[in-house]
Amino acid sequence: MRWMDCNVSSANGQNVLKLPSFPAHSVAVKYATEHRCGVRVRGPNLTDAITGTDPLKDNKPLVTCRPTDATSEAHQTSKLINELSETMYAILTAHPINVDRIAARKNPANCVLLRGCGSCIDVPSIRQLHGFKGFMIAPTCIIAGLGMTVGMDILNVPGATGDYQTDLMAKGKASLQALRDEGQSYDFGFIHIKAVDDAGHDRNVELKLQFLERIDTMIGYIATELAEDEKRGEVEHTFVLTGDHSTPVLYGDHSCEPVPFTVCHLGALSPDSSATTSWYSDFVTGFSECAASHGVLGRFCGSEVMGIVKRYMGIL
Ligand SMILES: [Zn+2]
Repeated sequence: MRWMDCNVSSANGQNVLKLPSFPAHSVAVKYATEHRCGVRVRGPNLTDAITGTDPLKDNKPLVTCRPTDATSEAHQTSKLINELSETMYAILTAHPINVDRIAARKNPANCVLLRGCGSCIDVPSIRQLHGFKGFMIAPTCIIAGLGMTVGMDILNVPGATGDYQTDLMAKGKASLQALRDEGQSYDFGFIHIKAVDDAGHDRNVELKLQFLERIDTMIGYIATELAEDEKRGEVEHTFVLTGDHSTPVLYGDHSCEPVPFTVCHLGALSPDSSATTSWYSDFVTGFSECAASHGVLGRFCGSEVMGIVKRYMGIL
């Protein structure tokens, strides 16, 4: 984040912010997408068992970070985060951009809402668990971080920005290129789309519909191209589409309703295909919460997704 440059020493190109009470710990801040940044704290006796400082609503004061268990690590980490929050506030308030904004009677941008603390965890990769070599296209850093954690290659796609300006067709084209790349021999690709969630947060129905239509166009393009590959007898493709959560425009935030899910063989989309006789077949032709509720798969947990997909593919 460019604003942090005013009071940090630079080491290996990273911004490093020092906390007086925690000389053994280092802090690095990196710009992510839109208004977001990533904050990394390194040092002894840290844990992710803490709460954040984000009040999650406008016009509320910052929340004090607290430990969520009784360990000394959680106690120390929460103290560090509170000091970090105050230090960031002081640095940002004194920044020339904010000095100018305050002089012009504008709101200063002087705090970082710290939330979603996590630590690097040791989990089996997708390849170890499911035997798939996979790539991910996800400009949203928190999603890319998940992909890296489970051993997927993160592909950077020019034009894919993770916000309203994102180029969805660039993502579609890059995924096709990766799947067709014989040198890489990927079995599995994952594309994450963020902007439709932003439209839900912004309570913008028009924008949400626009993005759903653009996603539809991208999916149509990928499905048509891969179905052509199948016709040439190259490889059979299975397509899965779902959401990671709902963000209703009426609510303006994440909610906990079940999300629609669909899986199909691309060959089955062709009118001359006989591949529609699986017990997974049903009469649902739309993709929405209401349409999916009539589907043959019923309601299931996210942890069951890969099993369902692999059984559908006939490899489990
Ligand atoms: Zn969201």
